Amino acid sequence: MRNKGYTIRKKTGFRKVDNNKSAEEILKEIRKDITPRNDYREQSLKIHGLICAKCAREFSEKNRHLLTVHHKDGNSRNNPPDGSNWENLCVYCHDDEHSRGLLADYLSKSK
Ligand SMILES: [Zn+2]
Ligand SMILES: [Zn+2]
Repeated sequence: MRNKGYTIRKKTGFRKVDNNKSAEEILKEIRKDITPRNDYREQSLKIHGLICAKCAREFSEKNRHLLTVHHKDGNSRNNPPDGSNWENLCVYCHDDEHSRGLLADYLSKSK
């Protein structure tokens, strides 16, 4: 049958939020959503170390927040566990990397 996936869903409207859930539980769920996205950062720092791949500036536990993870192919969903798509860049180099990309993008489009 071709119409297999065609089911009529009743809209539940306001009942979308489960009243049995506490605010804490909801918060936990939100965090669950956020965590995997941040996870690659820790992974990358572990694999590549606390050092900027561009300017070779070294970081410590104190200022590690200045070190960010850049995705070489620009796709933040491409997170191979071996770290091959990651590059640890300090915020300055990271900014530089992206502004160049944007500029190149802009220049190629403004013909
Ligand atoms: Zn740097
Ligand atoms: Zn980046």
